[in-house]
Amino acid sequence: ESSVKPIVIIGTGLGGYNLVKELRKSDQETPVIMITADDGRSYSKPMLSTGFTRNTDADGLMMADAGKMALQFNVSIWTNTEVTAIDTAKQVVTAAGVEVEYGSLVLAWGADVIRPPIGGDATDSVFSCNDLVDYATFRAELKKRKAKKVVIIGGGLIGCEFTNDLLNGDFDVETVDPLGYCLPTLLPEAAGKAVQAALEEKGAKFHFGPLVTEVNKQGDALGVTLNNGSVLDADIVVSAVGVRPRLALAEQSGIAVNRGIVANRLLETSANNVYTLGDCAEVGGNVLFYVAPLMAGARALAKTLAGTPTEVSYPAMPVTIKTPACPVVVAPAPRDAEGEWTIEQSGNDVVAEFRNPQGELIGFALTGKGTAEKVRLQKELPAIMA
Ligand code: FAD
Repeated sequence: ESSVKPIVIIGTGLGGYNLVKELRKSDQETPVIMITADDGRSYSKPMLSTGFTRNTDADGLMMADAGKMALQFNVSIWTNTEVTAIDTAKQVVTAAGVEVEYGSLVLAWGADVIRPPIGGDATDSVFSCNDLVDYATFRAELKKRKAKKVVIIGGGLIGCEFTNDLLNGDFDVETVDPLGYCLPTLLPEAAGKAVQAALEEKGAKFHFGPLVTEVNKQGDALGVTLNNGSVLDADIVVSAVGVRPRLALAEQSGIAVNRGIVANRLLETSANNVYTLGDCAEVGGNVLFYVAPLMAGARALAKTLAGTPTEVSYPAMPVTIKTPACPVVVAPAPRDAEGEWTIEQSGNDVVAEFRNPQGELIGFALTGKGTAEKVRLQKELPAIMA
C-alpha cells in the first residue's frame, strides 16, 4: 500500500491527456486519477470543424477510448463523472458523491460555449459543436432532418471553419455576424473580406451587421429571424459565437479567477497544490483557446509535478485557420496593444503586418498565398511570454 496521494486531473481533453502523456515520460509511479464529465474518448478537438472535408464522422474522429488511454498511461479514468466540489484545505474533491484525496490537483476542465440570447419556439434546433459528444449529436440531427440548409450564428474562427466545412459537405450555408466581415476580431478588413470572397465563391451567403433574435418552426423547417427584419430558411442552426472559461466551481472553492482561473507561470492557482491548464486557465494574464499554449503548459507542468518546478514559456504562436477555400494564418497582437496595419494585397492573397509605434512587428494576418510569409514573419515576432 503506497501512502502517496494521487495526482487528480479534472478533464480528459487535449489539456488533461497531453499532461499525462508528458508526465509518464519522467514519472511512471505516482498514481493518477483522471475525472471527466464526458465519455473520456481521446480526440483532437480542432478536427471537429473538418468532418465533411475529411469525410469522417464523430466516431471516426475518436483516437482512443478511455479504457485504452487508461492502459496506455497507467492511470485511472472515471468517465461520465462530474466533479461538484473541491475542498482546497482538506485537499479533497467530490465526484459522484465520492470524496477523493489529492496530493496535486489539476483543473483542465475547459471552456463553455457562449449561448446568445435567442427566442422563438425552436431554440432546441440550435446546436453548438464544442466537443465530440456535441459533434455526434449534430451529425445525427443533420441526418435525421435530411438537412440541406444550415444557418451559422457567428463569423469568427469556429463559424468560418464550419461554413467552409459544411460547404464541402454540399450544404447550403448562410452565416450571420453582427460585425462587418469574416473573422472580424482576428483580421483587418482586407484579410477578412478576402476570406469572405473565397467562401462566397464556394456558395456561402453572409449576413453582416444583424443579430439573430429568434428561431421558429416554419412548416417542416425553421425560420431564423434577424434584427434587420429578414427571416432566413434553415433545417438546422449552428451557434458559434465563442467560449468562456469554466469558472463557477473554482470560484465556489475559493480559487482566484479573473477572465480565466488565475495561474502563475508554474501554472499554480491561488490554492496550494492546485494547478490549471488549457481553455479554463489564465496563465500570466493570457487566456488562449488554442492547442499550442496548452501543449507548452503540459510539458512544463509535467516536470513540475515530477519534482522539478518549471515555468512555462509561450513563444510566438501563429494560428492556422482551417478555411481551405482561403487559408489563413494569424498571430494576434497582445490585447489592447497600440499599433497600425500595413497591408499588401493581390486578389484574395493578403499580407498584413501589425506594427507598434516603435515600428516593431507585434502581429500579422496572412491569407491565400500570403500564408507563405508565415515563417519569415514568425521569426520577427516577440514571444508572448518569454
Ligand atoms: P476540453 O477539451 O474542453 O476538455 C475539458 C474536459 O473537462 C472535458 O473532458 C470535460 O468533460 C471535462 N469537464 C468539464 N467540467 C467538468 C467537471 N465539473 N467535472 C469533470 N470533468 C469536467 N485550437 C487550435 O490551436 N487550432 C485549431 O485549429 C483549433 N480549432 C478548433 C476547432 C473547433 C471546432 C473548436 C471547438 C476548437 C478549436 N481549437 C483550435 C481550440 C482547441 O481545440 C482547444 O483550445 C482545446 O482543445 C482545449 O482543450 P482543453 O483540454 O483545455 O478543454
